[in-house]
Amino acid sequence: TFITFEGIDGSGKSTQTRLLAEHLESLGHEVILTREPGGSVGAEEIRSLVLEGDPDRWSAETELLLFTAARRDHLERTIYPALDAGKVVICDRFADSTRMYQGLSRGDLREKVDKLHRLMIGTEPDLTILIDMDPAVGLARAKGRQTAEERFEDFGQELQFKMRHGFLDLAQQFKDRFRLIDGNRSVDDVAGDIRLAVTDYLA
Ligand code: C5P
Repeated sequence: TFITFEGIDGSGKSTQTRLLAEHLESLGHEVILTREPGGSVGAEEIRSLVLEGDPDRWSAETELLLFTAARRDHLERTIYPALDAGKVVICDRFADSTRMYQGLSRGDLREKVDKLHRLMIGTEPDLTILIDMDPAVGLARAKGRQTAEERFEDFGQELQFKMRHGFLDLAQQFKDRFRLIDGNRSVDDVAGDIRLAVTDYLA
């Protein structure tokens, strides 16, 4: 089973993916917790190329190609082998993040994103947990842990707002696999809702 988490920066994805992984393991599932960009040796190298250094190093198109290359490597080396072995794969961000960030943040590349996805990726998750939250809260959280690698998170509130609404639109477009979770609550409340959504799906 392939489960992805999506949401704007600071929405709590890394905490919630970890809590879900621990919960599913306690129920006896074999779980792989992974993330994008990254999740395999080659894809982590691409992550450094994209997220470190001069933000204007790559054009929007080149950045899209790099993210797609990273995803392809991640699928081949990490995700497919784990799914073939019957494991639950939990991934912090996947193709929906590219539909949003590479698709919308530096101009409108959504059509190219979708074409490349069909051509080189194809796979969609079984279930996508969208942690929806107020961009102002997300931004404050993200800024609190800013490192060089997280310079991408310095998008500003306007873009966070655009991303939030973009994710909500995606949830409409892919209704069958998306589960919308209200992230403006305590970690425990959010984790509880996610557990319900996932155990309901797995049942
Ligand atoms: O999710 P995480 O915080 O690890 O993402 C690192 C940064 O990369 C974030 O600021 C996110 O906005 C950005 N990103 C991106 N395009 C993606 C995935 C992540 O710009 N497809």
